[in-house]
Amino acid sequence: MNLRCSKIVCIGQNYPAHARELNFAPPPRPVLFLKPPSSLIADGDVIEAPLELGRVDHEVELALIMGKRARNVSEEDALSYISMVAVFNDITARDIQSEARSSGQPWALSKGLDTFAPMSAPVPRSSVMDIHQLELELRVNGEVCQRGHTGDMLFSPEQLISYITAYMTLEEGDIIATGTPEGVSGLNDGDIVEASIPGVGKVTNRVRRV
Ligand code: MG
Repeated sequence: MNLRCSKIVCIGQNYPAHARELNFAPPPRPVLFLKPPSSLIADGDVIEAPLELGRVDHEVELALIMGKRARNVSEEDALSYISMVAVFNDITARDIQSEARSSGQPWALSKGLDTFAPMSAPVPRSSVMDIHQLELELRVNGEVCQRGHTGDMLFSPEQLISYITAYMTLEEGDIIATGTPEGVSGLNDGDIVEASIPGVGKVTNRVRRV
């Protein structure tokens, strides 16, 4: 994907129902982790998830793309820093993540593999009515697995930007993946995964597991 991006900041457990399905209480402050820009792929590309990884899940999310450098941004100013939005699929090697979590190790590998960040072509934020009122949907082979609403986020986009930039400078082009609603499930070889947000876009990818 031809996008200048120094980092992808992802938010974990930002929808209470998803935190519950992973047996976590909703966190008291945003849970942050990073995916490398090398994990990005576009609509139509293949998700490469070798079988040896064990369970690999989809996670449909709203992505915010920074229009300018941001540091110590207030919640009031936060939205003016978002130039574009997109649909993001935070592919997760769940078995590797769970194993790392239970042994107290970082779970970077489970999130950072090549092809583990499918994203739709970004559209201007100004073309979207209200980013707090968007429907998220994810289908596998045509069947709905995830359905959610950005209004159900535990921490709003404004709160996330303010929280992140208190600690970490966001550069123009950096991506924030805002978390996934419930309904995550494992992917198999040949699956067609479609993540969509009406009014924002759709990213469709085939899964390769060998
Ligand atoms: Mg996620």
